[in-house]
Amino acid sequence: VPAPPGLPACAQVDLDAISDNVTTLRDLAGRAEVMAVVKADAYGHGLLPAARAALRGGATWLGVAQLPEAVELRRAGIDVPVLSWLHVPGQDLTEAVQLGIDLSVSTQWALDAVATTGRRLGATARIHLKVDTGLGRNGAWGDELDALAAAIGPLQAEGVLTLVGVFSHFAYADAPQHPTVRAQQERFDEVLADLARAGLEPQVRHLANSAATLTNPSAQYDLVRPGLAVYGLSPVPDLGAPEDYGLREAMRLVAHLSSVKPCPAGQGISYGHTYTTPADTLLGLVPMGYADGIPRNASSVGPALAGGRRLSIAGRVCMDQFVLDLGADYDGAAGDEVVLFGRGAAGEPTAQDWAAATGTINYEIVTRVGARVPRVYL
Ligand code: PLP
Repeated sequence: VPAPPGLPACAQVDLDAISDNVTTLRDLAGRAEVMAVVKADAYGHGLLPAARAALRGGATWLGVAQLPEAVELRRAGIDVPVLSWLHVPGQDLTEAVQLGIDLSVSTQWALDAVATTGRRLGATARIHLKVDTGLGRNGAWGDELDALAAAIGPLQAEGVLTLVGVFSHFAYADAPQHPTVRAQQERFDEVLADLARAGLEPQVRHLANSAATLTNPSAQYDLVRPGLAVYGLSPVPDLGAPEDYGLREAMRLVAHLSSVKPCPAGQGISYGHTYTTPADTLLGLVPMGYADGIPRNASSVGPALAGGRRLSIAGRVCMDQFVLDLGADYDGAAGDEVVLFGRGAAGEPTAQDWAAATGTINYEIVTRVGARVPRVYL
């Protein structure tokens, strides 16, 4: 589908791809339900349209990092369970509890804050206990985990909160054979057994992100939490491309050339003249830069498709623009479409190609597409 003319750049987002990807994940997950992770503006795809597409595809839960993201979903009328998992002391949880947002608890201060809020409102807050089974990041372990487990029962009996879930997150889900994967899962099972002995039986246990959902059925428990795969990108690019898992990339990033101008051989291009035209040529000016999420370290290496030809960025990426050396035989003009990434058809680069070229991961390529770039929904 051509991008709407007249836009410097846009991210075309195929919502049916998001729905279909979720359906694929749901079928893979067997009896487990799907929590589509829509944090960070749905990995750059747009929070509300992506969330609705994921629900159409069969997701029954949504996951976000920050509370305002969850509140935005609720205010838009989305009433499925929504889990938010990253909070700080002093954050007002009133609205979260009133809106029935599920809150992750991994620290004593968070449990206290949730209980206090539930008590003050005369409401029952919904919590998921987050356990650090070896990621070494967010989650409770050791004495703090024991203390939380001991405190939850009485608070539940008091009616100020209910333990909806227990969850954890892998360090090496993208390397399914890594010994930590099994070790974390064993630790998760141990914690669940300890909690059960203490009379704590959550409604849902969840551990698997995209990579684990695709590669490790034993980690699916009651709920899987895929993010990246919802958007059709492979979380394990060394093991398989999206199509190998029945997924399709939802985002296509397109720009329109602002100008096409002749340029002699030997001309330095863009700041610092890090590229010099090897021959007489035509230069294409692409109106996107690092303010739009094009990594500055894509200078000289970022791939693009222009006039049916795969090119690399000529010289430095600037804040708002970069240059392509189109070649003397380019037979297009200003206004022509340039594809930065898409599904890889007909020579289009993919987000994974951008990640490989710039030394990052495909997650970052789509998530960093700037707020200035309109999302156009297909
Ligand atoms: N669960 C948690 C706790 C996360 O932090 C994330 C994302 O980082 C996900 C699930 C989704 O991960 P992925 O995008 O790899 O599927």
